[in-house]
Amino acid sequence: MTPGKIFVVYGDEPGSMMSLLLGHLDPASRISRGSRIGIKPNLVVAKPSNSGATTEPAIVEALVEHLRSGGHENIVILESAWVGDNTRKAFEVCGYNEISRKTGVPLIDLKSDSSTRRRAKGIDMEVCDAALDIDFLINVPVLKAHCQTRMTCALKNLKGCIPDHEKRRFHTLRLHKPIAALNCIIETGLVIVDGIIGDLTYEEGGTPVCMNRIIAGEDPVLVDAYAASLMGYSPQDIEYIALAEEMGVGSADLDSADIIELNRTGDVHVGLPEKGNTDSFAEHIDEDQACSACYGGLLHALQRLSDSGEPTRIGSGAISIGQGFKKRSGAGIGVGDCTSGLEHCLAGCPPTARDMVEFLKKK
Ligand code: SF4
Repeated sequence: MTPGKIFVVYGDEPGSMMSLLLGHLDPASRISRGSRIGIKPNLVVAKPSNSGATTEPAIVEALVEHLRSGGHENIVILESAWVGDNTRKAFEVCGYNEISRKTGVPLIDLKSDSSTRRRAKGIDMEVCDAALDIDFLINVPVLKAHCQTRMTCALKNLKGCIPDHEKRRFHTLRLHKPIAALNCIIETGLVIVDGIIGDLTYEEGGTPVCMNRIIAGEDPVLVDAYAASLMGYSPQDIEYIALAEEMGVGSADLDSADIIELNRTGDVHVGLPEKGNTDSFAEHIDEDQACSACYGGLLHALQRLSDSGEPTRIGSGAISIGQGFKKRSGAGIGVGDCTSGLEHCLAGCPPTARDMVEFLKKK
């Protein structure tokens, strides 16, 4: 396997898909004996993988079994859910406690981990020590839309390797540059993308889309560029992909990439919509440095209000959200503690989407 290659397996049965992929790639044979191997799924929220939000556990289980059969014993699964959710609950709900029970591989909740200050490309950041302690990282993201960065896949998945206060700070820096810089600090050895069920609307799932594929590659920039293309974007449309390429993390040159489909057949559903619809409520939102959990909740709330047909706030002016409103006061409507200086504010950090719906109905 070389960095310029991307492998794709189609289907809807993760066990057999992983068997085909791992039989072809054989990552166990490429990893030095005695290495500490970290597997980083995406368990951003405590929802099962069929919600479109989180990594299918059968993919990770197959990976652990493959590594074990290749003689690797020092394997950990590490993750930190987003701000406002509980990683331990996500491990349970998403089926990872069961993997740990069966295989003996420990689960590390990075929310409880210590961290160390690191610097890359002029950006200082705190990175969880357990992530820094990994010799070979296998990044197992989900192919999804994201309300602020348009999409999330391999590069952004590493945001789960920093403490919550640092996640909040990343949002104040508009996400793109720190995400790219974080990938200079934590090197990904292999990416295996769960593209079986994703969500082309929200990062937190809830509008699942069957995409029936697993994608793998060594270069997280190239894998993300390919994933972006599946969602109708060019690599330049996703700022952090272009920045990561500039910073030397990898190449976004899809024209020179070798895309190898291991089992292309005529009977798997491979259709994808042109683009996700994260922009559809943009005119109703005045966003400034909002955390994903807050922003995603507001998009859900607006979608529900739009579906309900009831008279609502939609169409009567923008709703403020984000850390950029912390010191602002005066007229207006906002959601989240950061907008507490505005005349009408829904408290919470983050407030639930359900609370947002009720709040916005009354405004
Ligand atoms: S209230 Fe502010 S800090 Fe809390 S989640 Fe929302 S944007 Fe982030």
